[in-house]
Amino acid sequence: MSGPLLSTIPVGPLQCNCTILADVEAAEAVVIDPGDEPERIVRAIEATKCRALALLHTHGHFDHIGGTAAVRRATGAAIRIHAADRPLYDALVEQASFFGLAAAPPAPPDGGFADGESIPFGRFALEAIHTPGHTPGSTCFRLDGESPVLFSGDTLFRRSIGRTDLWGGDTDAILESIRRKLFVLSDGLRVVCGHGPDTTIGEERRSNPFAAV
Ligand SMILES: [Zn+2]
Ligand SMILES: [Zn+2]
Repeated sequence: MSGPLLSTIPVGPLQCNCTILADVEAAEAVVIDPGDEPERIVRAIEATKCRALALLHTHGHFDHIGGTAAVRRATGAAIRIHAADRPLYDALVEQASFFGLAAAPPAPPDGGFADGESIPFGRFALEAIHTPGHTPGSTCFRLDGESPVLFSGDTLFRRSIGRTDLWGGDTDAILESIRRKLFVLSDGLRVVCGHGPDTTIGEERRSNPFAAV
């Protein structure tokens, strides 16, 4: 069984990487970080001919949640975000205006994540990994199977890490999350970051200027 269909679309002024994962055979999909441009995301979901089960959020910053309410209206998918980022999620309008942008009020979430929880779609599943630091509720998602992928949100980037000077950020916590929960994963594991290009766990463990061990 090869991996699910995976398409990553950079959306919005900050080019947040939104990913659609679809099991075409089972006609079930999940969406990670529908941050902006909801019409484009909905079209991409429709192109898979799958039903979107859930909108999963790596964290509650506005650039990752700005399209959520509209994608939810179009698809009926459940909204999920870690409980510790609920205050950020609820403050979407205030966050956007802090960056000089406008946003519509958020739709209420349907649930959070437990650390290690499995989130199924079709024949596949994502594991939620709680990685506090960039925000208190930051969560990475790991797709298992033949073509494993880690979705690292704004916790780990190619040769960088997430900023910790925003609401609830904590530099010691992000470094501990990266080293204890991400750098223990396999060397060749592909990482799709919240912004910018992909990387691998091994590359960052060796060469990340902020977190290398
Ligand atoms: Zn962020
Ligand atoms: Zn971001």
